[in-house]
Amino acid sequence: MTLRTDALEASIRVDGTARSLQVTAPAAEDLTPFEGTAVAHGEGHLLTGPLSTANAVALQAAFPVLRPRRISDHRTSVGTGDRMGLATPGQARAFAEHGTGVMPVLAQQSIREMDRLGRSARSVMDDAVFGLLEAGWESGFGADCDHIKTTEGIDRGLEAGFVMFTLDPGDAVADVTAGVTRADAEALPWDLLEDDLASLEARYAGRTLDLGGEQITVGEQDVLTAAVKYGRAVVEAVRLHHHLLERAEHEVDVEIAVDETAWETTFFEHFYLAAELRRLGVTWSSFAPRYVDGFEKGVEFLGDAEELRRNLEAHHAIAEQFGGYKISLHTGSDKFSIYPLCVEATEGLVHLKTSGTSYLCGLEVVAEQDPELFSAIWGISRASYVRARASYQVSAEESRTPASLEGADLRELIRSNDARQILHVGYGDSLNGTDAAGSSIHDRVLAVLAAHQDRHGAILAEHIGRHLAPFSAVPAPR
Ligand SMILES: [Zn+2]
Repeated sequence: MTLRTDALEASIRVDGTARSLQVTAPAAEDLTPFEGTAVAHGEGHLLTGPLSTANAVALQAAFPVLRPRRISDHRTSVGTGDRMGLATPGQARAFAEHGTGVMPVLAQQSIREMDRLGRSARSVMDDAVFGLLEAGWESGFGADCDHIKTTEGIDRGLEAGFVMFTLDPGDAVADVTAGVTRADAEALPWDLLEDDLASLEARYAGRTLDLGGEQITVGEQDVLTAAVKYGRAVVEAVRLHHHLLERAEHEVDVEIAVDETAWETTFFEHFYLAAELRRLGVTWSSFAPRYVDGFEKGVEFLGDAEELRRNLEAHHAIAEQFGGYKISLHTGSDKFSIYPLCVEATEGLVHLKTSGTSYLCGLEVVAEQDPELFSAIWGISRASYVRARASYQVSAEESRTPASLEGADLRELIRSNDARQILHVGYGDSLNGTDAAGSSIHDRVLAVLAAHQDRHGAILAEHIGRHLAPFSAVPAPR
């Protein structure tokens, strides 16, 4: 596809597995921001250059549609990660075909994934820019620097031009399952909270909270528990947010995420987090509490759907009391049975995050085109699963899966729950690994995908499209 401005035309040229940038302009000086080789071409000039950061930056300067936008003015949005850097065209196709009205977040990667893959935030952005050009996508996109735990992570995202920052103070969330005492609450960093325990209790204890369908009364113990569990996370989120606003030179969206903790966020705890963060000057446009159980990587929702509906309705009701922000569903892929209820319960004020499921689409292409390479990935993923599983919400058992893939139906395997989670979690070790001949698995996967981008795009368009369709049919707010 080709994008045009008054002065320029740009497209991605595909030659077998090699991809390059082509830019044409009537005047040679219009091509100076780009790197590559320029030749006379018809009435003007044609430049052929690499898919480099310099060229991505030059494209973004020339084409406003290739600059990420804030997504907070869209009620409904869906994020799709791209671990290999070649999924954007297929993902854009999914939004074009199935995602009318849904704002896409096509550059989205967590700091953890970037580190595991040795990828910079800028290379995530570059791959999205070139993918969007390849797809000819002109309807805008968001860029989410996900699960940021340090100010250094914020700086990385800002430098690469990200506009959405998901701040994750989860490491500061305390385990309160054994109960909390008044002394635990007194030990909180009250100076940083700009507060004291008596004032906190006076603000919340005895208060009635409206959760949409029901009301709850906040007890004194609820206040102590929420403060001990999340008080230090409030301090951490304030610190990160302050750094972000101080350093950002462009407008940004903020998400607050505490989803990656072992303990469910109660409704009062959500209320406490929102009220305390608001009191301390934090603003955000989406929020990810830890929901009821049932969210695992890459597979259907495994919990009680009606319980989830009530859970989301109440979280949404709390968000509405603070001006209305999106309820963000992390670990959101492949849960087709619950998407309609997620949209209903939040009245469409919702953000869905998927990431590894696009990688699994890529592995389907690898399994079709190069089963031996897929076997190598499977072997490493399966062996590393036992170690890597601790940092994920997963329940797969490697003992239920085949050690040898001799005669196995690979497509069926990739679509089974155990294998999906093993492959999902094992990406770091397998992509950083080598095959029996010592070649980089990462490079081999890239080569297979690059050679079969049409097939890759078709699988992504269908699979991501299935995620988008329910979110596309959002009702008007009441
Ligand atoms: Zn998350």
